[in-house]
Amino acid sequence: MTELEREIRTMIAAEGPIPVSRYMALCLGHPRLGYYMTRDPIGMAGDFVTAPEISQMFGELVGLWAAQTWMDLGSPSPFALVELGPGRGTLMADALRAARVAPGFLDAAQVHLVETSPILREKQRATLAGVPDGRIAWHAGLEAVPDLPLIALANEFFDALPVRQLVRDRGAWRERLVGLDADDRLAFGLSPDADPSIPYDAPEGQVLEIAAAGIPVMRALAGRIVAAGGAALAIDYGHARTGFADTLQAVRRHAFADPLEDPGEADVTAHVDFAQLAAAAREAGALVHGPVTQGAFLEALGIEARARALAARASAKQAEEIGGALQRLAGEGEDDMGVLFKAMAVTHPGLTASPGFG
Ligand code: SAH
Repeated sequence: MTELEREIRTMIAAEGPIPVSRYMALCLGHPRLGYYMTRDPIGMAGDFVTAPEISQMFGELVGLWAAQTWMDLGSPSPFALVELGPGRGTLMADALRAARVAPGFLDAAQVHLVETSPILREKQRATLAGVPDGRIAWHAGLEAVPDLPLIALANEFFDALPVRQLVRDRGAWRERLVGLDADDRLAFGLSPDADPSIPYDAPEGQVLEIAAAGIPVMRALAGRIVAAGGAALAIDYGHARTGFADTLQAVRRHAFADPLEDPGEADVTAHVDFAQLAAAAREAGALVHGPVTQGAFLEALGIEARARALAARASAKQAEEIGGALQRLAGEGEDDMGVLFKAMAVTHPGLTASPGFG
């Protein structure tokens, strides 16, 4: 039994079963035992691989999106180039290199990284060692980022934020809980109380996920964008419309695992409900572009031309890898990210278009 499971059992013994959202928050973010606090999970040697780690093309195209967005905003200087959940810092490094195409972008940019994991902060510091001191800062939350026009990036960030799960039961929504079963194992259960505040209807037994932590982050992001100018780009696996499905999943060493097994040792995530995030952004007065599939977004930004350019000066073996990365990032196969992943931009209402969104 993991140390975190012992702590969770103590909590359940003291307070009764805990909401799935609290369980997820503990698994990922417990200050000492949470998954992200204790390791760098990204890469072949870890638990999962993300788009920026598959190929430099991903971060470069996101950098082009940021550079064009900055020019569309009237080239504000200074501005905050924010990344939420920057992982190993790879996306930011590739984006900064590509954004040099916009003269003045690098001089105007103050890099602000929102990251809770001390281990990943160190990785980011090493990856981004080329950014001069005083031009890069780390924060535990968005509220600490200075009040400037901002361009924010979030790749596979929202999926790591806790969701509430509610189950339609006897005509009401009841919170899904984590407690102990008759054999003293962690098990899902249901709160006896109904939550009357949920504005959805659904057949008996359906599961509804609410982006409990993601919605306030998006609301704050959009509020700042409306007040100070700016745009945000969120890319993640998920769905464009609110569905009624249990998407809570655990991944460990590149395979699915039981989310209740060995808490703290697996990446526990949920598919991102882009409709809920879009609604939060619109309520704050921002414009929403997309979501579109990651494949459509990357193709609109020119991933095929970029792959050809890279392949033209690569060895045969490297060219094959570039082709493989193109397929993985933008392709439509079952193991590809092109369709499952979506991209969505949130902008100041003055930006009526956003690059990559048609
Ligand atoms: N964007 C990166 C990493 C994705 S993994 C990539 O594409 O490779 C999720 C990232 O979000 C990690 O850096 C993790 O430490 C961070 N993270 C998770 N929960 C967070 C939170 N509540 N606040 C800030 N960062 C968080």
